[in-house]
Amino acid sequence: MKRTKVIDALKRTDFGSEITVMGWVRSKRGSKGIFFIALNDGSTIKNIQIVGEDQNFDEETVKLITTGACLRVVGTLVESPAAGQASEVQARQIEVLGTCDNTYPLQKKGASWEYLRTVAHMRPRTNTFGAVLRIRHNMAMAIHTYFHQHGFFYFHTPLITASDCEGAGNMFQVTTKNLYDLRRDDEGKIDYSDDFFGQQVALTVSGQLEGELGATALGQIYTFGPTFRAENSNTPRHLAEFWMIEPEMAFYDKQDLMDLEEDFIKYCVRWALDNCRDDLEFLNKMVDKTLLERLEGVLKESFVRLPYTEGIEILQQAIKDGKKFEFPCEWGDDLASEHERYLVEEHFKKPVIMTDYPKEIKAFYMKLNDDGRTMQGTDVLFPQIGEIIGGSVREENYDKLMAEINRRGMETEKLEWYLDTRRWGSCPHAGFGLGFERLILFVTGMQNIRDVIPFPRTPKNCEF
Ligand code: ATP
Ligand code: MN
Repeated sequence: MKRTKVIDALKRTDFGSEITVMGWVRSKRGSKGIFFIALNDGSTIKNIQIVGEDQNFDEETVKLITTGACLRVVGTLVESPAAGQASEVQARQIEVLGTCDNTYPLQKKGASWEYLRTVAHMRPRTNTFGAVLRIRHNMAMAIHTYFHQHGFFYFHTPLITASDCEGAGNMFQVTTKNLYDLRRDDEGKIDYSDDFFGQQVALTVSGQLEGELGATALGQIYTFGPTFRAENSNTPRHLAEFWMIEPEMAFYDKQDLMDLEEDFIKYCVRWALDNCRDDLEFLNKMVDKTLLERLEGVLKESFVRLPYTEGIEILQQAIKDGKKFEFPCEWGDDLASEHERYLVEEHFKKPVIMTDYPKEIKAFYMKLNDDGRTMQGTDVLFPQIGEIIGGSVREENYDKLMAEINRRGMETEKLEWYLDTRRWGSCPHAGFGLGFERLILFVTGMQNIRDVIPFPRTPKNCEF
């Protein structure tokens, strides 16, 4: 079954050689006893043209060459007379490996994103999803390469956990208990002592707390894995199962952290421009005409570094000048995505790293500023997306951290292992979380997060 991949066949110039290609028929047309097949094998957005003469093939075979059918073609590589392609294949032998009749759900061009989600098991065969999925792979490679080259260690944090990262999101419980026959104690509480782990556990909402253990031992680590949040927010930017990248660095202060956030995102965007050119050009043509411009724009600009308090002032001024927002934005409010996008897309017209948030809207582990009311968060806000990174300097002082934990009335019983990092050899450190799919949204220009992951999981949807 030796074959030449289409991506390689299109680069070959040894015209006259025999070649075998395999792939799926994108389209077939014919005239005057000659047929032309556009064949795609997923290695590239580009198709290779197969040319054949009807008289050289039996009629039955030619009839089976329909859109979506899978073929093995043996022939001669020839220089193509057609514009936009160097080579094509003059077919000598065609075998239909898999037929495809007219019930094929991707028969018609221009199907809606919503329709394609209902056939998510087949949509990788479309041009757009092929492009998105190749870019997704490339972004994963960019991320591992970046961290590896910068001396970070890939650190594996657990997916099943008894810690809840302080309500970063609602959790999916994991149990082997018989849900039809739950034993309860005298107070009506479920008894987990006979559950698989002997306690209540769930799928992780963030690997950060465990990541901090890695950073305070290895210096610099990153995680890259699935993350689960049972949030009932049906938005174009939230999934119940998504992938998160969480670097955590010892001896980083706020400045170091912001520099890393900016450098890292720019590296990923540059990687896409350098390695995914054909797919980006396709998406720029078919999905979002400003995509390439926006990607190149991000590389040129320095990200604005904006304290939350100044951000609120800008938003208040905008309201005075007649701007209407759906949600309030007084000092102390968590910014809604409309506010984030106003700052990024209309006010500054470039990415913003927002810093120093009120402590009431941020997590317990963030480092408190001397003003006693703001914390050293450093979220990155992006055009089209809103929050793409959530980051912060961590509170390394045991007493201050405990004071915040007590102020919030949190139980420390299940956090002792985390507090140990501050008990013994505590060190200044910082980190952030990047939502992988939000990065893919930005890099592809796609509008809905359901369309940048092969199998999206959202409320009431867990197909395939
Ligand atoms: P948001 O406010 O957008 O819901 P968050 O503040 O809850 O996000 P964090 O806990 O800071 O998110 O998580 C870090 C990053 O993970 C976010 O900046 C975002 O890129 C990504 N992220 C968070 N929740 C989701 C989700 N449900 N689906 C996809 N990505 C997510
Ligand atoms: Mn956040």
